[in-house]
Amino acid sequence: MTTTTTISEDKREETRVTYEHRFRRKGETHWSGYGFDCAPDGTLDREYPNYAEVAASDKYEDEGVVSWTQRTMLCSCGSGQHSWLEYDARGIPLIKVCDDCKESRLGVYRPDVLTDSNYWHDEPLYED
Ligand SMILES: [Zn+2]
Repeated sequence: MTTTTTISEDKREETRVTYEHRFRRKGETHWSGYGFDCAPDGTLDREYPNYAEVAASDKYEDEGVVSWTQRTMLCSCGSGQHSWLEYDARGIPLIKVCDDCKESRLGVYRPDVLTDSNYWHDEPLYED
């Protein structure tokens, strides 16, 4: 599967675009057919044994290169990395972190909040 990955200038968002050359089987109500992984210009990723046959067949309609886009928010610290949600020892979500900021962001919590599910608290546990 050919996927191009770009990261926005502020490093807060990742955009992944995936390309496929599609052939739709004619006369079907729902889409059915073949999708061959390819580059944006239609160059196939590898040799497909059935590509020539499908491309030449009049049972299929050539839909050309189809792409779809997937956007993912990256860590708010600006590292350009994927983040995940950290939970405390009680399973309460605390904060989103990445490898770069995990230590500093979790460092603001008392260690027992992260390790002891019976931790004592009388203060707000959250931070935005
Ligand atoms: Zn981060």
